[in-house]
Amino acid sequence: MSTALAESPGTTQDEDKDYQFAEHPILSRQKQQESNARSYPRRIPLALKRARGIHVEDVEGRVFIDCLAGAGTLALGHNHAVVTEAIRQVLDDELPLHTLDLSTPVKDRFVQDLFAVLPPAFAAKAKIQFTGPTGTDAVEAALKLVRIATGRSTVLAFHGGYHGMSQGALSLMGNLKAKNPLGSLLSHGVQFMPFPYDYRCPFGQGGEAGVQTNLHYLENLLSDPESGVQPPAAVIVEVVQGEGGVIPAASSWLRGVREITSRHHVPLIIDEIQTGFGRTGKLFAFEHAGIVPDVVVLSKAIGGSLPLAVMVYQDWLDSWQPGAHAGTFRGNQMAMAAGSAVIRYIEKHDLVAHATAMGQRLRGHLLDLQRRVPQLGDVRGLGLMLGVEVVDPHGRADAQGHPPHNGALASCIQRQCLKRGLILELGGRHGSVVRFLPPLIISAEQVDQVARIFARAVQAAIAAGNE
Ligand code: PLP
Repeated sequence: MSTALAESPGTTQDEDKDYQFAEHPILSRQKQQESNARSYPRRIPLALKRARGIHVEDVEGRVFIDCLAGAGTLALGHNHAVVTEAIRQVLDDELPLHTLDLSTPVKDRFVQDLFAVLPPAFAAKAKIQFTGPTGTDAVEAALKLVRIATGRSTVLAFHGGYHGMSQGALSLMGNLKAKNPLGSLLSHGVQFMPFPYDYRCPFGQGGEAGVQTNLHYLENLLSDPESGVQPPAAVIVEVVQGEGGVIPAASSWLRGVREITSRHHVPLIIDEIQTGFGRTGKLFAFEHAGIVPDVVVLSKAIGGSLPLAVMVYQDWLDSWQPGAHAGTFRGNQMAMAAGSAVIRYIEKHDLVAHATAMGQRLRGHLLDLQRRVPQLGDVRGLGLMLGVEVVDPHGRADAQGHPPHNGALASCIQRQCLKRGLILELGGRHGSVVRFLPPLIISAEQVDQVARIFARAVQAAIAAGNE
């Protein structure tokens, strides 16, 4: 391990960092040679050389706490021993590294491990499809599956939803930035519904009243013969919208959606690509509401940091034909071995309970800060998927009395965090939500440290704005 990464975290000295970001030659070359569509390096201009646990070290020897964690991929943090050991074992055993969708003992074990942790009511009649190794491709597979099974072509998705960047998945996306330049997508086949965004309720109500109005709207849309909306092949939803701004759906709303969709014979697809595997304080976020979905799409954490994606679904939908969703890279043995190792570790060490406890601790710190800082409009999320919506307290309040988004200040907070050695990402409307997605193994001491750095960064960003 490098000396820099071995430094014990949590000291005050650690929090006095003031990193400056002169462009390293690697970054200059990246800027020159990589596509204009590159995204993260614009906000996080780092060239990384080593990583361990919640820390990454860049080529200049600077150490950062990584609360982006591969966009939620690294449940056990960077280079966890059980993950690297599982990968090494695959190599030592000379397993075929690439198997299309042929079976192997590693794949069989991964499926058994995954099915063993799915809620029994869902697992009892579940089938699995390995897809291309991105979350997006699992979403594409789900769209095909439900369209073929129901003989219907349209899908209901939600404002603020994010399901990936291929053109089918993009049609389901709320954010227009990536869609507008493309003109026509499949969007004529997607009907968007309001999401129960409590802080900015689309019905101006919030709370249980907002939830009930929302459900009434859905019920009416599906039952009114003159709604203009054809019976959909599915409803697709995230339990906590991640990219949309860390917006948790109320459990009562999810239960309502399940009840309405069942009654109208509409398959319910739960996108657990970001929420899956313990992140929200349940292994799968839909468990908070106690519902049984028809389809669950999974990626990110299930490959233990390597690319892997699957769709698990109820067998009544299994009417598509052989080869209906193929793809070359569906057999990554190292990812399956790493995924099994992650599942077993999470179970053995009850990381789900740990994520709940650490999430509560971090939320407590953020709420304390929010009480003192009017620019922090809303603190929300589930487990270790938390967000802070940054607002302009002097702006015109909305129907619920909440000030407008302040993406510029959120961006300044992100930069101030980075200078102090903390990597955080933004999301939500106008990029106004600062997101916390640390590895699930984060300790209480590290949570406190993240909160202290964030508090200082917020003060510095506000002071910079007032200069
Ligand atoms: N669905 C959700 C909820 C996501 O958060 C993401 C990625 O962030 C995706 C789908 C797409 O996954 P990928 O980027 O692996 O294609």
